Amino acid sequence: MSRVLSIVVPVFNEAKNVQPLFDALEEASKDLGHVVEYVFVDDGSTDDSALVLTQLAKKVGERVKVVLLSRNFGKEVALSAGVTYARGEGIVTLDADLQHPPALLPELVAKWTAGADVVIAVRRATAAKSLLRRASSFFFRVVARSLAGDAQKVEGTDYRLIDAKVREAFLLVGEKRRAYRQIVDWLGFTRAEVPFDAGRRHEGTSTYSWPKLWSLAIDMIVSRSSVPLRMLLYLGVLISVASVVSLVWMQFAINFSPRWLYTPLAKTVVFNTLLNGIVVTALGVLGLYVARIHEEVLGRPLFAVRATIHCARDDAEGAGR
Ligand code: UDP
Ligand code: MG
Repeated sequence: MSRVLSIVVPVFNEAKNVQPLFDALEEASKDLGHVVEYVFVDDGSTDDSALVLTQLAKKVGERVKVVLLSRNFGKEVALSAGVTYARGEGIVTLDADLQHPPALLPELVAKWTAGADVVIAVRRATAAKSLLRRASSFFFRVVARSLAGDAQKVEGTDYRLIDAKVREAFLLVGEKRRAYRQIVDWLGFTRAEVPFDAGRRHEGTSTYSWPKLWSLAIDMIVSRSSVPLRMLLYLGVLISVASVVSLVWMQFAINFSPRWLYTPLAKTVVFNTLLNGIVVTALGVLGLYVARIHEEVLGRPLFAVRATIHCARDDAEGAGR
């Protein structure tokens, strides 16, 4: 049964990686028995990526679609744009830097053919990651898991295959601040996993800077649950109870042991500071949620497109929703 498989690749300054990636994907997909189409999304690259992609599309033809975004929107939005334009019965998303091995493609497709609607490549180890980075991603996983409020997996990567019906459901999700894999996880459907070892980036350096990673982590937590708010509430109650207990104890000490006279005052000052800290933290957390509401309420489109190649007009239906 020959079905169309779309391969979606977000591209940000990957001029040197496009051709090797394309060759590797062609090699990996030649025995699949599916028609393979590509959707390369140029995410406002400042190098020759757009040119390289345009040339590739010209050389290969209709099978290579290119979407040029009007500026850099970030990987998550670029992925969403790619999925919007993808028309295959199965849609694979992967990074352009060859850290997601194309050789894994047959395994992903096999599980899809066997009936899974979402096939996720799960990373075993990343050779290229520094100890610090690995420690922080471990920390992030632990935090995400304990805050998640559900038992969903957070180890999965963006290297995944989704069925067209998952894409349809995906396009109905309207939130602007997004992590692709989190939305796909949220959607559910029948899932399968394929383990792999992530290698080093082929050319260039990772563009996922620390600030970007942290803001993604915060987005994932805030959009996932209201657990931070609830924890804050518990903390507030705890502090209040502790304050009352201390006050009672201080009154007792003052009445029965005059030499404690100064310490209670100092304690009161400390407590006051602590309470101020908690109020500020609470405002900060509330602010996070309000900021999100504000962003969603603005109702801006998710992305803007500068030009497309080999994309039919109605391919963009639902684009930028
Ligand atoms: N990427 C993108 N827009 C960005 C940053 C990255 O489309 O603003 C793409 C990039 O070209 C690559 C993928 O997202 O295909 C992963 O990026 P990177 O390798 O920098 O991230 P890491 O591997 O460190 O997670
Ligand atoms: Mg990478």
